[in-house]
Amino acid sequence: MSPRSNQAIAEPIPSRPGPGVRHSSSLTRAPRRQAEGLPRWLPEGKTAAVSFSVDDVHPSTSADPYEAGGDLRRGGLGRVARLLEMHPQLRATLFVTPDWRPLSLHPTRTWLAKVPLLGERMYLARVRPKGGMRIDRFPEFVRFLNTLPGVEVGVHGLHHLHRGPRLTVEFQEQDRAKSAAMLREALDIFDAAKIDYVRGFQPPGWNLPRALLEALEDLHFSYVSAARDLTTPVSPQARTASCALREFSLLQPEVVDDHPLVHFTHNFQATSPMERAIRIVENGGLLAIKAHIFKAGGGHTLLDGLDDSYSAYLERVFVELHRRYGERLWWASFGQIAERVLGNFQNRMPSN
Ligand SMILES: [Zn+2]
Repeated sequence: MSPRSNQAIAEPIPSRPGPGVRHSSSLTRAPRRQAEGLPRWLPEGKTAAVSFSVDDVHPSTSADPYEAGGDLRRGGLGRVARLLEMHPQLRATLFVTPDWRPLSLHPTRTWLAKVPLLGERMYLARVRPKGGMRIDRFPEFVRFLNTLPGVEVGVHGLHHLHRGPRLTVEFQEQDRAKSAAMLREALDIFDAAKIDYVRGFQPPGWNLPRALLEALEDLHFSYVSAARDLTTPVSPQARTASCALREFSLLQPEVVDDHPLVHFTHNFQATSPMERAIRIVENGGLLAIKAHIFKAGGGHTLLDGLDDSYSAYLERVFVELHRRYGERLWWASFGQIAERVLGNFQNRMPSN
């Protein structure tokens, strides 16, 4: 199947709002701009960077609605491992869900959704009981991730689930304290599992309400990645144009708030042409490639699911980038980049 195949995507790509559409729970104000122009986050001698991240990783196997890492080398994680073996310079950030619960990515109980009030208070699809997919119950899965070279693990929600019609958009109306408690529970599960991880966060469904942003700061996360823009033309000043998350830099990681937290924009996926990758690199940006660990499951297909076709396309992209730019490219995980961005940011803060 061509990587440009046109199929439904399970987690909606944020789009421009139509007339009257409001996203009141989402972060809408522009992030704080860097005081001195673009951040000098690239190491000496590097002119652009490449990062690869994969969402929805959890221990479900091919016996479940989604194979999401539980089959280890025989499944989606095997594809990640082979990409890393063929391109040893590559660094991958795997966003792992601590206790995955949805058995479908879209509401299936559509009759419930039509019942006034009830539809907002119920899970509109079958869900696992709490704890069923806690990663600390799957030591082989954790061991596999901990020993995969070139991999960094970040946090992808707690259960990846919410009541009401936006089933997989986990953070919506929760206030700062509730959001922080959910993040704390996620970190507790990671700690119990003894998984190696960094405090980086990918919100399920891409939604980053202000309360979640504040909670991430409370828990000392170093980065969040909540925008995906595959269409805005590439230029050094380009800003994202998605509905809930407008106004992030398309090409540069940037500090988004008073308590330093770095934001990354995903600007490339299976459906993006090679020329977009080259333009991002030519403009000195971060080429942030997104994939999901499964292509299809539970009756849904994801455009950027990491199947054999997408893996083969990524191999071609990596070979071409290496051929063109060689040592000038910095292949880095989000955590490595965030560390440099925050280091520069803190060096510029006035000393007391
Ligand atoms: Zn997800």
